[in-house]
Amino acid sequence: MPTPIDPQVTAAIRDAHDILCISHVKPDGDAVGSLLGAAWLLRRLGKRPTLALQDGVPDEHQVLPGAAEILSAAQPAYMRDVVERAFDLVICLDASSPDRMGTAYNPARHRTAPLLVIDHHITNTRFGDLNWVAPTCAATCQMVAYLADALDVALTGELAECLLTGLVTDTLCFRTSNTDAEVLETAMRLMRGGADLAAITQQTVNRRPFGLIKLWSLILPTIHLEEGVIWATAEQMLFDLAGYPMGDISLSSFLVTADEADMSAVLVEKADEISGAPVVECSFRAKPGFDVAQLAFAFGGGGHPPASGCTLPGTLAEVEPQVIPALQTARRAQAAARDAAQRTAGRYAPDAARQDAGGG
Ligand code: 5GP
Ligand code: MN
Repeated sequence: MPTPIDPQVTAAIRDAHDILCISHVKPDGDAVGSLLGAAWLLRRLGKRPTLALQDGVPDEHQVLPGAAEILSAAQPAYMRDVVERAFDLVICLDASSPDRMGTAYNPARHRTAPLLVIDHHITNTRFGDLNWVAPTCAATCQMVAYLADALDVALTGELAECLLTGLVTDTLCFRTSNTDAEVLETAMRLMRGGADLAAITQQTVNRRPFGLIKLWSLILPTIHLEEGVIWATAEQMLFDLAGYPMGDISLSSFLVTADEADMSAVLVEKADEISGAPVVECSFRAKPGFDVAQLAFAFGGGGHPPASGCTLPGTLAEVEPQVIPALQTARRAQAAARDAAQRTAGRYAPDAARQDAGGG
């Protein structure tokens, strides 16, 4: 069953007219899809949405209907029309903590309006005045589809196209372990509403620029595999060499496919945008049955059990020796807990199995 929606959420939307919609820094398909989906939904209700993403829309999502209207910090109108303007309501989508909104949320100006948080991250810190957090949903786009149902808006046209994009990208095209019947049912409804699954898949998960493949080729020589954790590291210089901009490089999802690994990490050193001091962006992935969200949260970041991230101060030489042993420790503890649970359930007994094999 779809997650029930607090009537205060629908009431807040019905009562507002001039609405700021924002999502997280370094936006992915679910961030852009849920932001645009919310905008199409609000327009159908006769509302006036303003859309903002601090870092703008990544190239592969520029094709989405309405993407050109999203204001980013690189545009002169951003300060006047987003940061310095007051609204009736602010809706924040797919962000698990306030820092993820970047400059798109300006408390000094926006505090006069209620902040409605709509998100599916298990690590969400409930930073809104109203918080609708549904970790059982595979994408924030799935939540926006349920919101459309609650507000009697049909899942058709531009709305359907934007929402299916987030479902496809957050589930890696329905391959993640949280792809349940609800996800497929929502996707089916969006397709019936006109969303083109083949076109969306081709535009997102089935393609990448040559520069990104070149960058992977430069980073892959750094891979290590120890104690079930596979990881790679990169400095800014490699991005310059590959001619690829700093940002999401999706390499951790590829690394965790290694049979010998339960967890993966990609650590990228860059200069902090404000201070210029070195920071390391960490991207983590886990196989089903393992959880990297807790670790990312402990390091000040967040995410989902199978996919999470954080940014830590320091150089690679400083951060790698903190993060990798922590991942290995977490993996050991989780593997032991899983084995203990399986033994208790009587389904798997490695000691007994060894005795059986040796006996006779
Ligand atoms: P990715 O590795 O694709 O950048 O991120 C994977 C997941 O972790 C996403 O759900 C993303 O929202 C979350 N995530 C990545 N970096 C951070 C971070 O610095 N802070 C928080 N709160 N979440 C992050
Ligand atoms: Mn998401």
